Amino acid sequence: MNFELSSDRVTETSPLDETSLLVIILDTNPGQRILRENPHILTQCTDSVIAFANAHLMQKAQNKLAIMACHSKISEFVYPGPGKPLDIRQVDGQYEVFTLVEKTVKQNLMKVLTSETSTVYTESLLAGAIAMALCYIARILRTKTPGLKINSRILTVTGSSDSASQYMNYMNVFFTAQKQSVVIDVCALDQHLSLLQQGCDITSGLYLRIPQIQGLLQYLLWVFLPEPPVRQKLVLPPPVKVDYRAACFCHRELIDVGYVCSVCLSIFCKFSPICTTCQ
Ligand SMILES: [Zn+2]
Ligand SMILES: [Zn+2]
Repeated sequence: MNFELSSDRVTETSPLDETSLLVIILDTNPGQRILRENPHILTQCTDSVIAFANAHLMQKAQNKLAIMACHSKISEFVYPGPGKPLDIRQVDGQYEVFTLVEKTVKQNLMKVLTSETSTVYTESLLAGAIAMALCYIARILRTKTPGLKINSRILTVTGSSDSASQYMNYMNVFFTAQKQSVVIDVCALDQHLSLLQQGCDITSGLYLRIPQIQGLLQYLLWVFLPEPPVRQKLVLPPPVKVDYRAACFCHRELIDVGYVCSVCLSIFCKFSPICTTCQ
């Protein structure tokens, strides 16, 4: 078989043997500023994400979906859930898969939220969640029918800040995603996320910090629903200049100018004659 990988050709292949796998990571950490101020926002975000996920499934019957909840200590798949799929009957003429997605996500999300202990950490394990999503995608790709082409992408919806303490983990997942041609999209609900923006740039995904959370569903449908091969034909928010500062390995802070070990490429903010990473 002769597969052309250029993006122009991708849209010309038969639509039947091409599907799209979308993994959504929803940050449910109660320590996020927007959730501390108004916990009801989580309900709104969950509803928007479910509606968006169903819109993705509606585009093509073969499209695949996974939704993860990302917390301060754990990240878990809420759809498809860990157990057997729920037994769903048709409700009000709604397509059963949509009901299944909504019920499963809400039920599993409830389990995740009630298992959370009282201590609140403001930092979410986003890098770990992306790594889990990459593993899931790799498994789906390994077990797919031969000849089927799957475009995979990961959408992160978060109101947390990306802390430089996970800098190494972020860079590892970004370059792994780039190698596996998985696109990483980020929808920032609150603060600007410079590290995740680098990830979008590395994997040619889209980064959008939404101006107001009330319009979350509209932004998701407008910017993140079209598949990456289609996006270049649409008018989407223009790419902004990416802040490519790195974090030093000694204090995990973003620095403008630093020292790099000539052997292992570790970055330090202060000069030291012996590299602490590789000695
Ligand atoms: Zn330092
Ligand atoms: Zn070194």
